[in-house]
Amino acid sequence: MAQLYFYYSAMNAGKSTTLLQSAFNYRERGMTPFILTAAIDNRSGVGKVASRIGLEADAHTFEPKSDVFELVSKHHSEQKLDCILVDESQFLSKEQVSQLTDVVDSLGVPVLCYGLRTDFMGELFEGAQYLLAWADKLIELKTVCHCGRKANHVLRLDEHGNAISGGNQVEIGGNDKYVSVCRKHYKSELNKL
Ligand SMILES: [Zn+2]
Repeated sequence: MAQLYFYYSAMNAGKSTTLLQSAFNYRERGMTPFILTAAIDNRSGVGKVASRIGLEADAHTFEPKSDVFELVSKHHSEQKLDCILVDESQFLSKEQVSQLTDVVDSLGVPVLCYGLRTDFMGELFEGAQYLLAWADKLIELKTVCHCGRKANHVLRLDEHGNAISGGNQVEIGGNDKYVSVCRKHYKSELNKL
């Protein structure tokens, strides 16, 4: 039975690395994975998933209005797909998460989504909200704060390394950086403001 999986974490927990490893494992067994990522993420050029340890792979992209069921079923009819791997899945809309449940339930193809749970304000991303609600399996990928505790929050820092508490959920092309911290250090950084 195909299932919908959500691998979630804070920043820099190795989501893209895990996705690319999974794609490799499928290919090694002679199977065909289909990699999808958000067009919004231009860190590594449109249509690529790149990991911090140097692995990368070409990817199809989704935009806010893309019908991801259409996209997947079109490719699936030309070449049987064995799994769908979605990077940056926090950027999926509610509608697109629903379309991915149709990929699982109607096409019978497993879908593995990788993404952030919350933004730098501690709020759920839309994609994460519905994946948490509707996925069959939730898997947390862990990373650690500088203090050694599990990091479950993301801090946005300006170019001077100071925490930022407001602004757009997604800032493209800015000089801001994101770091993963535990809840205690997330709160203490924001309380300095
Ligand atoms: Zn900490």
